[in-house]
Amino acid sequence: MKTALMNRTETWSRLTAAPLDVLVIGGGIVGSGVARDAAMRGLRVGLIDQQDFAAGTSSRSSRLLHGGLRYLEQGRVGLVRESSHEKKIIHRIAPHLSQPLGFIFPAYRGLGRPLWQLRVGVKIYDLLCGGRNFQPSRGFTRTETLEMLPALKASNLTGSVRYFDALTNDARLVIDTLRSAERHGAAVLNYARFRTSRRAGEFWECEAEDVQTGNTCSIQARTIVNATGPWANQVPHSAVKLRLTKGIHLVLRRERLPVPEAVVIPDGRRIIFVLPWGERIILGTTDTDFKAAPESVQVEPGDREYLLRAVNEYFPALGLSERDVVSAWAGVRPLIANPDGSPSDISRAHQIRCPEPGWWDVAGGKLTTYRLMAEQTVDQIARHLGAADRPCATADEPLLPAGEAPQFSGILPAPQTRDTVEHFVDREWALHLDDVLLRRGGWAHYGQMNDAEIENVAQWFAAAAGWSPDQTESELEHWRASCQRDGC
Ligand SMILES: Cc1cc2nc3c(=O)[nH]c(=O)nc-3n(C[C@H](O)[C@H](O)[C@H](O)COP(=O)(O)OP(=O)(O)OC[C@H]3O[C@@H](n4cnc5c(N)ncnc54)[C@H](O)[C@@H]3O)c2cc1C
Repeated sequence: MKTALMNRTETWSRLTAAPLDVLVIGGGIVGSGVARDAAMRGLRVGLIDQQDFAAGTSSRSSRLLHGGLRYLEQGRVGLVRESSHEKKIIHRIAPHLSQPLGFIFPAYRGLGRPLWQLRVGVKIYDLLCGGRNFQPSRGFTRTETLEMLPALKASNLTGSVRYFDALTNDARLVIDTLRSAERHGAAVLNYARFRTSRRAGEFWECEAEDVQTGNTCSIQARTIVNATGPWANQVPHSAVKLRLTKGIHLVLRRERLPVPEAVVIPDGRRIIFVLPWGERIILGTTDTDFKAAPESVQVEPGDREYLLRAVNEYFPALGLSERDVVSAWAGVRPLIANPDGSPSDISRAHQIRCPEPGWWDVAGGKLTTYRLMAEQTVDQIARHLGAADRPCATADEPLLPAGEAPQFSGILPAPQTRDTVEHFVDREWALHLDDVLLRRGGWAHYGQMNDAEIENVAQWFAAAAGWSPDQTESELEHWRASCQRDGC
């Protein structure tokens, strides 16, 4: 059996042996989507990420495949139509990562959007989904609303509407997209940083560093895609200008906030989602300007207080507090720069630019629109490489091979077993404990795992990856320190 180290050595050789058609920098959802699309068109593709795959924004979202009802209010009809179409495509190609979900949006007299406006809004929302949303939206009277949500604040409640979007698992969507890219021939490597590049004739000569060993390698590529999310303006040659905003989520026990479907809480011009996730609730999010380094983003006490205050205002009888919080995460939105307007007003549209021959910057957008961003980028690259005759097939080909049961991938965490950990190490590039606990397994966010459970996972990992006792202990120490810092 090949070890993780042997796999890495082999991947480095494939990245460096002969010039690539496309080198993708960044293994978040956008880079993974580009790698899959390009590999499916028969191009020679490599992808590197300086951290674990999905460790950036793509494991820190609200996990919604959505058109974005809120963007309708801002008049961004094109964006809503585009995202609504894409949410249906992801549902088709990756049904194991798309769970249709009803969203109950209550209306209050003298507060936020009036009921009539919500009723009109959700009907337009259905239409923008080509009239084929997961289920049609509808309205509810005040009495019906309180029957569904008995703990909801009743004073001044006038009724509610329900519309449909879907819940996904952002990190799993990245990993499964990369697995598909690899099946189509892409060489993908985590913990490998892009450092510099220069144009030499028809190629880019790039320097990349193996973060595990500190060694550097040279990679030649005809084209480069900068898909580094919130880091996109830091990469040499990038022409991207970003406005970063921070958003956090809290995970609560569902028995403490028992809702049958998702609930939308109005908070001034913003909205906050209460999202059922198995026996848990994901509560989020915030949207505040963020000026620090993306990797330093953390859940601050003020963020937690803001979300708990908002949910307590609408579910006053529940008295939710810090004690009910199981875990939390913080992420940074890589929005296209616009100095005007509040963070919530900045467009979620994406931008694809080619500032130098053979170099593409892909930035902004949403998890929901990643496939379209990839298609549009690879269309341009294929034209540049003279391979425009190969059409995009990502909207039709399933993410998993036909007939393969998604044993280790879904919206809820996979079973916490030795087999699962072995699979993550052998087949899904897991190198460190948090790659499994946070992103591939999602157990730490779902669970409040006790020390014995974490120790078990570490021992299974050690056996699969050939860690020494010292290495296992250092992984555990690293995990405990990052948990203390990030509150997971
Ligand atoms: C709080 C929050 C909630 C959100 N909710 C939703 C939602 O519900 N639905 C939705 O559709 N969208 C949502 N989004 C938006 C969505 O999550 C992002 O648009 C998307 O994840 C961005 O993906 P990305 O690949 O561009 O960036 P990332 O996921 O950040 O990936 C960029 C990668 O580049 C790597 N990288 C950086 N520099 C280098 C380098 N020099 N060398 C190699 N690799 C490098 C990083 O390590 C990182 O992994 C949300 C975002 C946030 C923050």
